[in-house]
Amino acid sequence: MTNPYTLILHDNEPGCSSPRSPSNARNIFKKDVQKAAPFSFRCATMRLKRADVLAIARQKTMISLLKRKILQRLLPRDFYFRKQGYCPCCQRPTDFISYDPWLRDNFLCVKCKSIPRNRALITVLEKHYPNWRCLDIHESSPSGGGASARFRSDCRGYVPTQFYPQHPAGKMINGYRNENLEAQTFDDESFDIVITQDVFEHIYDPESAFREIARTLRPGGAHVFGVPLVNKFMPSEVWAVRENDGSPRFLHEEEFHGNPVDSQGSPVTMHWGYDIVDYIKACTGHDSQIEYTDNLELGIRAEFIEVVVTRKPAV
Ligand SMILES: [Zn+2]
Repeated sequence: MTNPYTLILHDNEPGCSSPRSPSNARNIFKKDVQKAAPFSFRCATMRLKRADVLAIARQKTMISLLKRKILQRLLPRDFYFRKQGYCPCCQRPTDFISYDPWLRDNFLCVKCKSIPRNRALITVLEKHYPNWRCLDIHESSPSGGGASARFRSDCRGYVPTQFYPQHPAGKMINGYRNENLEAQTFDDESFDIVITQDVFEHIYDPESAFREIARTLRPGGAHVFGVPLVNKFMPSEVWAVRENDGSPRFLHEEEFHGNPVDSQGSPVTMHWGYDIVDYIKACTGHDSQIEYTDNLELGIRAEFIEVVVTRKPAV
């Protein structure tokens, strides 16, 4: 029996400034820069002494550079989209700016550099668990900034972990506890909340990882996580499997994402769809809901920023 998922849509879009196409901005920029760069060595034909020519060249070059700098500020070369709002990560009025149409990785808060999925996750967490600052939270594989920085600064019970396969499990390394999400050393019912952000598309054995998270959650707690649900309504697909030596064997096109603790990057092992909620139900018996937030005031707009909330029933 399948568990019908819940897709909650929030669309609180206020008016927004119209995006300027990057190519148009680039053309305007080029034209103006060409006008602003008049210096050429033609002035050598004016029969000036070499020293005079060089002095003029320096002066003109400086003016040209100055004009170029002013123009760059007025017309940023790749400017694409800008919106004033309030950042849920750093909790300040701010500007959200993207120089790239792919907002998911580029629509930054200028103050804390958070990206839309960070802001979506903290907004959903705040909605379901407004007391999260007083709870015990395990975050696996946090990034340095964004929502993780907020958890680190505001939550006394925050335990960040990374996985260093060459080191003993459960030890502290570089400020992180060394934990394999698929086989954790935490006791049962250690946490109120488990957070993962863009982690589950890199797990070889998601069944074990979901079970371990369920085991370490207290009754009434939840796994709150972001994962790119790239397959949407299509079934989830295994993308890569682990070879005996630990390396990935891709079943489809090779795909890696950046990893802050591994310069090789992390192989993509799963392409998830909305049926992830059925998968979690089968592994843990727990119900999940998928929340999609679209709120420009909070700088939350991008593809694949759904947040999944899997609750462990209260006893
Ligand atoms: Zn911010």
